[in-house]
Amino acid sequence: MDDAVRLESLTKTYGAVTVLRDIRVSFPKGSFTAVMGPSGSGKSTLLQCAAALDRPSSGRVIIDGTDVAGLNETRLTEFRRESTGFVFQAFNLLPSLTAEQNVALPVRLAGRRPDGRAVREALARVGLEAKARSRPSQLSGGQQQRVAVARALVTRPAVLFADEPTGALDLATGRELLDVLRKLVDDGLTTIVMVTHDPNVASYADRVLFLADGRLAGELTAPTSEAVAARMTGATC
Ligand code: ADP
Ligand code: MG
Repeated sequence: MDDAVRLESLTKTYGAVTVLRDIRVSFPKGSFTAVMGPSGSGKSTLLQCAAALDRPSSGRVIIDGTDVAGLNETRLTEFRRESTGFVFQAFNLLPSLTAEQNVALPVRLAGRRPDGRAVREALARVGLEAKARSRPSQLSGGQQQRVAVARALVTRPAVLFADEPTGALDLATGRELLDVLRKLVDDGLTTIVMVTHDPNVASYADRVLFLADGRLAGELTAPTSEAVAARMTGATC
């Protein structure tokens, strides 16, 4: 099983509105993919379905060899906690908990005792060992987002999903975060599927998929920000 995630003929409709149409794509283990598209093109919906946070209207989502449609709600929640990590644009840390407590949370929610070493390793991966006892309010936005990445990593998920992870960060801080994500993949730690509308952000990935009106409308491998930007404005590349 070489795919971290596979989407088979995925469609998603809200009432009469079709948001995703016949999406067929694989995310191989160890790859870093960016999903690009204009606002409203269905990027977040695609990511939510791929992460099993939302159910598709038809088609299949296979994560690390498991067809998630075959899991009941309880098993699905467990499976998501063990096999996936999710990073949101807005960090979503719990303000009353320290960085290390936030990172340990997925382990606690899975009903296990957090392993202090695993928590410290996850914080070290994002360069924040020294901030383990800090609360979110004592951290910069970039540091908070790195804690969120550590939290997503602590269970060693097969795949890390990120929806506009640099959307709330300034340029330099966003680059630091993307360097962290790039290194996770380069070190063989996980697979990343990241949504963005920014060609500079997409250029950190190995492959960029273009979404337009809910359909996959092409891809670029070894993308540069110039090639991605040219593609977005409809130029050939
Ligand atoms: P993107 O992330 O590319 O901006 P989204 O996936 O958020 O796009 O949304 C794609 C389309 O689906 C939009 O037209 C949006 O209004 C619609 N949509 C998303 N979520 C819902 C929902 N829960 N109910 C109805 N329409 C939705
Ligand atoms: Mg979105």
